[in-house]
Amino acid sequence: MARTDSHIYDTFIVGAGISGLAAAIKLRETGYDNFRIIEKADRVGGTWRENTYPGCGCDVPSSLYSYSFAPSSKWSHLFAKQPEILNYLEEVSDHYGITPLIEFNNALDEAAWDEDRHLWRLDTTNGQYLARSVVFATGPITEPQTPPIPGLETFKGEMFHSATWNHDYDLTGKRVAVIGTGASAIQFVPQIQPKVKELHVFQRTPPWVLPKPDMPLGETSKQAIDRFPVIQRTWRKAVAGSLSVINFGLRNPVAMKPVSVAAKQLLRLQIRDPELRKAVTPNFLLGCKRILFANDYYPALQADNTSLIPSGLVEVDGNTVVGANGERREVDVIIWGTGFDVAHPPIGNKVVNENGERLADLWKNSSPEAYLGTSIENTPNAFLILGPNVLVYDSFIRLAEAQLDYIIDGLWKMKEKRVSKLKIKPSVLSKHNRKVQKNLQSTVFNSGGCSSYYLDQNGRNFAAWPWSLSALKRRLNVFRLKDYDVVYGEKAEVRPFKSAHQANVAHAVH
Ligand SMILES: Cc1cc2nc3c(=O)[nH]c(=O)nc-3n(C[C@H](O)[C@H](O)[C@H](O)COP(=O)(O)OP(=O)(O)OC[C@H]3O[C@@H](n4cnc5c(N)ncnc54)[C@H](O)[C@@H]3O)c2cc1C
Repeated sequence: MARTDSHIYDTFIVGAGISGLAAAIKLRETGYDNFRIIEKADRVGGTWRENTYPGCGCDVPSSLYSYSFAPSSKWSHLFAKQPEILNYLEEVSDHYGITPLIEFNNALDEAAWDEDRHLWRLDTTNGQYLARSVVFATGPITEPQTPPIPGLETFKGEMFHSATWNHDYDLTGKRVAVIGTGASAIQFVPQIQPKVKELHVFQRTPPWVLPKPDMPLGETSKQAIDRFPVIQRTWRKAVAGSLSVINFGLRNPVAMKPVSVAAKQLLRLQIRDPELRKAVTPNFLLGCKRILFANDYYPALQADNTSLIPSGLVEVDGNTVVGANGERREVDVIIWGTGFDVAHPPIGNKVVNENGERLADLWKNSSPEAYLGTSIENTPNAFLILGPNVLVYDSFIRLAEAQLDYIIDGLWKMKEKRVSKLKIKPSVLSKHNRKVQKNLQSTVFNSGGCSSYYLDQNGRNFAAWPWSLSALKRRLNVFRLKDYDVVYGEKAEVRPFKSAHQANVAHAVH
């Protein structure tokens, strides 16, 4: 039954995915205890709880796609699959004592700023809460996207999105249309191809697919990693180093040209049929869309039961799916591999700022803007994790951790300096975003000749950070109160020990 919690929390974390868990762990490690964390689902994990499609896994090596403070020696492969990642997150949550703190099955309905009391009023499915600040850890890639296709209502077969996979539906012997060839599709296509009767892959834009340097980690390797953590640390550093080289290329498209040529040569070796090769060869620079890695995708496309339709789906006529090039296929199942609506994060529907405006209304005709992916205009005492323009080609976990150092420093400064309200100065926000947009122009995301999910409907890049991860980390190292309009008023409290960004919380998760 809905209830009102009259306690005033210092902060309120919404979401218990990778970001929310890290927020709770890091806050507690700094001695910041007066917080609440809610999660709308019945377990932690976010992305890795929701996406269960066959072959789902990370495309950044697990040594880097794991918390800096919780290395694991249990990964079965260099790139872990979804069940292992979910298991890892549950173990970390238990290990740090966060699981019992989380209110599961509790969804935020509305967060509204109360200007009279300088508090957030949080209406959730379980009741109402009050908090001095809010951390929105509600995820950057959550809303499955399916295009509006004329005639879809006439389709009588089975239909689902990769993010809501219907495991009860047996694909064996079925005629399947896969719509889209993005990051999820290239993982599940090779898994379903051997069991289906016919596989028709609709490809609007061919992605760059490079070989995945994956391999299993046997017991001996795991034991060695467990006994000598230095191996894991060195490997993590090496992976981070190689990703920073890729990032350099993304910022300097000239460097990407020879890599694109080499990748085309590789395609020659991987695909023998010249017609198919031509159809899957991208016509934009490598890196303009997210670079994909797979060893089994091209073999699956070349299987006898697979046909590639090199155009998007434009019409459904009963059980016939029709491509933009006129090709028609009769199918039993449509699987949407059409990705996510990242330009309109659902949290926008839930947040009402100090002017009484719903963020989704402000973002309706464009994409979100924030300062360092965190602080939103006219939205005081609120912090977004993995918000706009912080994406670097790296592990999202590292990005979230870097942002958390900033956020926790800010939360502590609010306590120490008796801040009852702070909001990003409009001048700081607009100067920052002008600079971000200007510098993005020359990156491969904006100039590589593709239209990617980094760009909103107006062509504005709302996702990427135009500089290096080190530069982002430097900017996030210290929360500068002078960037914010600040109102003082609350009782001061002093940090019990080291500042947030100095707190070193390394525990191996075995
Ligand atoms: C298939 C897939 C593969 C990916 N692979 C990689 C990869 O290899 N490398 C990489 O760096 N990134 C990858 N990503 C990106 C991935 O989203 C991030 O790495 C990371 O999982 C984001 O974590 P998060 O906690 O910020 O968000 P999420 O994992 O989305 O978690 C958000 C949580 O908030 C909860 N929540 C949302 N709204 C509410 C509400 N109103 N009330 C209460 N709770 C709420 C959700 O239920 C969820 O548990 C991948 C994404 C997908 C979809």
